[in-house]
Amino acid sequence: MSDHYARVVAEFDLSEVEARLNGSLAQGFNAYDECIERHITAGRADDVALVHQSPDKVVSQLSYADLAQRSAQVANYLQQQGVKAGDRVAAMLPRTPELLSIIFGAWRLGAVFQPLFTAFGYEAVDFRLQQAQTQVVFVDQSQREKFAAVTANTKRVLMGTAEQAAHWGDDHFTTEMAAQPVTFASVLLPAEAPFLQMFTSGTVGKSKGVAVPLKALLAFYTYMHFAVGLRPNDRFWNMADPGWAYGLYYGVTGPFLIGARTYINEAGFSAEDTLDFLKQHQITNLASAPTAYRMMKSSGVLDGQAEHLAIRVASSAGEPLNTEVVNWVTDHLGCRVMDHYGQTETGMTCCCHHQLDHDCPVGSMGLPLPGYRLVILDAENRELGPGETGQLAVDIEHSPAFFFQGYTWQEKVPFYEGYYLTGDMVEQHQDGTFWFAGRDDDIISTAGYRVGPTDVENTVLEHAAVAESAAVGKPDPERGFVIKAYVVLREGYEKSDALVKEIQTLVRERLSTHAFPREVEFVDALPKTPSGKIQRFVLRRQAAEESNA
Ligand code: ATP
Ligand code: MG
Repeated sequence: MSDHYARVVAEFDLSEVEARLNGSLAQGFNAYDECIERHITAGRADDVALVHQSPDKVVSQLSYADLAQRSAQVANYLQQQGVKAGDRVAAMLPRTPELLSIIFGAWRLGAVFQPLFTAFGYEAVDFRLQQAQTQVVFVDQSQREKFAAVTANTKRVLMGTAEQAAHWGDDHFTTEMAAQPVTFASVLLPAEAPFLQMFTSGTVGKSKGVAVPLKALLAFYTYMHFAVGLRPNDRFWNMADPGWAYGLYYGVTGPFLIGARTYINEAGFSAEDTLDFLKQHQITNLASAPTAYRMMKSSGVLDGQAEHLAIRVASSAGEPLNTEVVNWVTDHLGCRVMDHYGQTETGMTCCCHHQLDHDCPVGSMGLPLPGYRLVILDAENRELGPGETGQLAVDIEHSPAFFFQGYTWQEKVPFYEGYYLTGDMVEQHQDGTFWFAGRDDDIISTAGYRVGPTDVENTVLEHAAVAESAAVGKPDPERGFVIKAYVVLREGYEKSDALVKEIQTLVRERLSTHAFPREVEFVDALPKTPSGKIQRFVLRRQAAEESNA
């Protein structure tokens, strides 16, 4: 652990972060004021705040003043509909400037913004709207059909033509907004009041409701500053969709808190488009989920492009960042990609910080974000020391930045005494750094050893033929479980017994003999959540069925 890191952590004082913001823990906050109004007051009304690129590559720029006016219209409209502070307001929209105006407009009024990912089917939408008793939902014509089967009693506003809105019996966005004033007095709320209504990704089952309190703004700011290393003059692109925590906390809220220029790309992911976007906009600070980095790597499209790019720093979060990907980013994007660990519940808590001078060995997810004390616990919830593997937990009393208050509409209580239990297994090395082993349920118990799938997958990915991989335990009469690796091959490679052998030998030699996959199955794709996370439990179930057969 470096002196610099130790000093910053020891001296970390949440009130210093608070002092940078408009609101305060005692008097309350308004999330819109922190993201927009604060920069206008500082004389930056006409600075470009948001750059949007449409799927047909039309670029538009919005200033803080533009967003202030548009969000005021949204706030006035919502107020007219009877929406009050604390009510839920949702949007199921692509990455557009309108989406941001709606988010900021809802916040101005003290309403709670609820994202709905555009790939959701009607059941997922209905579940979320019913649970949150959402008052108003903004939706575009391309998504509107899904709502025909939604039974939730939510007012609908359509982004499309007036005729389309009339057809559905919805309010028409453009017409309604044009009728509204462009000013609105922000509503200040206590630090505990929610401003975001999230749902977890549902990687291991039904997703859980999480209401994020305004106090989280302090932790978001801390993360953007220290871990993302975001500077006001950066051109920042977080590729994650604001339908999920990573994109909404740290692709929208975070950069606006800092006041850096934020980029959104409405087009869906392709490696070619990513390269064009990075080049054209000369992005300096990039954030993305590991799956996107893996796709960039396996496509080969961005290979050797570093000299055409301006990326200063890159970050990744949401899933293990495979070591091969880190090396590829260094070689081909010309910067170091840092791994950040977090949850919808807590936001980021463990990071390789760009802005704190500490060692971060490749493969590690770093050290606690200032404002957090992280520990690892054994099966009886006793604290373990460095060099051990256990469940990652937050020591709440010594974590002033911690803000999670428990699930909404859910029985599950992830607290034990003064700890918040993450459900993730990690190893802490002697240097203090944390290393992700796997979700508690994903850890494989084989012949008396506990093996994290992450290590196995990382090693399998070192093989040139492998694009993606997932390791699970398959029931076995002798060993309890054997390790089975599911492998997606890169284009141009064919499955063969020889390849199975090569992969097995690679893991046996590089990692260890007890962790090598005794079974390797080549598949076309891995099961994933809508946000792109690998669902190992689906494969585990499949493997168990094979054993029973
Ligand atoms: P659900 O809780 O509904 O099953 P989820 O846990 O995937 O879904 P999120 O809150 O989106 O929902 O994801 C948080 C989880 O993602 C963490 O608990 C961890 O398992 C994983 N994760 C996040 N960041 C990292 C990282 N840097 N390395 C490894 N795993 C990560
Ligand atoms: Mg979770």
